[in-house]
Amino acid sequence: MAGLSGVPIIILKEGSKRETGKDAQHKNILAAKAVAESVRTTLGPKGMDKMLISGEEATITNDGATILREMDIEHPVAKMIVEVARAQDDEIGDGTTTAVIIAGKLLEKAEALLDQDVHPTVIVQGYKQAAARAQKVLADMAIDVSDDGSTLLKIARTAMRGKGIENAMDKLAAISVEAARAVAGFEGKDIEENIKTVMIPGGKIDDSFMIQGIVIEKERTSLEMPKRIENARIMLLEGTLELKKLDTDAKITITEAKNLAGFKEGEEQVIKSQVDAIAAAGGNVVFCEKGIGVAAQNYLAKRGMIGVRRVSREDMKMLALASGARLVGDVMTVTSKDLGSAALVEERKVGKEKKMLFVEGCPKAKAVSIILHGVSEQFLEEMERALDDALNVVLDVIRSKKIVPGGGAPEMRVAENLRQYASTLEGREQLAVRAFADAVEAIPFTLAENSGFDPLDCLAALRAKSGQGSGFGLNISSGQPSDMLAEGVVEPLKVKTQAIKSATEAATMVLRVDDVIAAKREEMAPKPGQSPHDYTMPQMPMPHY
Ligand code: ADP
Ligand code: MG
Repeated sequence: MAGLSGVPIIILKEGSKRETGKDAQHKNILAAKAVAESVRTTLGPKGMDKMLISGEEATITNDGATILREMDIEHPVAKMIVEVARAQDDEIGDGTTTAVIIAGKLLEKAEALLDQDVHPTVIVQGYKQAAARAQKVLADMAIDVSDDGSTLLKIARTAMRGKGIENAMDKLAAISVEAARAVAGFEGKDIEENIKTVMIPGGKIDDSFMIQGIVIEKERTSLEMPKRIENARIMLLEGTLELKKLDTDAKITITEAKNLAGFKEGEEQVIKSQVDAIAAAGGNVVFCEKGIGVAAQNYLAKRGMIGVRRVSREDMKMLALASGARLVGDVMTVTSKDLGSAALVEERKVGKEKKMLFVEGCPKAKAVSIILHGVSEQFLEEMERALDDALNVVLDVIRSKKIVPGGGAPEMRVAENLRQYASTLEGREQLAVRAFADAVEAIPFTLAENSGFDPLDCLAALRAKSGQGSGFGLNISSGQPSDMLAEGVVEPLKVKTQAIKSATEAATMVLRVDDVIAAKREEMAPKPGQSPHDYTMPQMPMPHY
């Protein structure tokens, strides 16, 4: 840095580190590319899996979002690329690997342009124009569908392909369509809030199923209670139905045995009146966030009521949504308005030994449950991730009713259109638009590569088909172009539009940075009373590249 007089002016404190201009850009791009590289081989039905090891636990997955979430990434720019995956996951729940690969490629292509002295601002402008145009191209090629079952099943299957759950695919596709349909009409964050998944290791995949209602992984608190109540009136209690523990710190000092008995009786009286209050309001099933003591269990059983204790907060919320019940803090204040309803509450055996409570036929069934059976915990977890992808895409298509062919077809179409567009542009933005086209083509390229074909041959074959409609993508068995619609390889439009959007946002954000300053932290300044001479300036850590 040179001041007006040519004398360097130091504006940063000693110990700060700084990289500027191309150095900073190159290192940032390197970091971004490294992230993209880490998920590249998982793309597509024939993609490889990753094994993530954390302490004793190993997760085997093909899911881009999961891989990046579990990796301990520290580099700030690398983290921005991980954000792309998160954004994609939040917005649509599928296409995370695609988005990250495109972001990495956009930066790699930008690097080549920077080397040719194209200014970053020009690249950013060109990328933005290209992205806007890509959105239009994708929207134009989208196909309107009704929410017919067969399209939804295809959407689900495409999202789950390659997740290593091939033999569970039919069952999961069917369940995802059923569950997405059940919650599609409701508002809110459907999947987290309205769909509960219970995993049972050891069973047969085909025994998996969905119910309209909620499964609580708890048994009734006492065998004396009925197993089954029809026309259930449900109370959700935040507190306990329990005698207070008698301890020596108690305010009341009980000296004589008969006083103790009297005290206990008094407490039991309290419990009895609490159960009476629930019954008076019309309640016959009580879900309790905390404990239900023996006395309460007895009174509940005597009245033919079901009590369930230590129900998790999440389950309480789901029960509230589904049954229409309100969470009650003080049991003595309960009225019939606080209660929810369900056609049936029943304890049933699930799998070999587990017993669970099924709450079914809720009038406001804003929640459904999926019970997954699978051979092992690990397999079940991958099943759940696949199911989550499927639920997301099916739900999107039920609502948006827009799909595109998969297998790299949309990316080929976008690339072709952008190249034509580039030739109409003057100036260097043309280069950036071309680079964008190349970057998007990384998807069919990588699909081909991961399927064991020569990617350049495959791209050439796909390009040759471009005049014959927009549905040609890569057949991952033959390596030849084929009609993806005929093959049933379809995806929601939004998976593609969102991938381009989030990849472009991240890439342009990285490109705008030309100065990396590892700032000093406050606590490192000399403390009051400490002589600056006694203080050794700590070396500032630079990001690891
Ligand atoms: P992402 O995290 O981006 O969803 P995936 O590993 O799920 O990554 O791969 C998605 C890509 O695989 C999409 O481009 C999709 O069209 C493609 N794909 C899925 N099934 C098939 C298939 N049967 N044939 C060709 N391509 C497929
Ligand atoms: Mg996918």
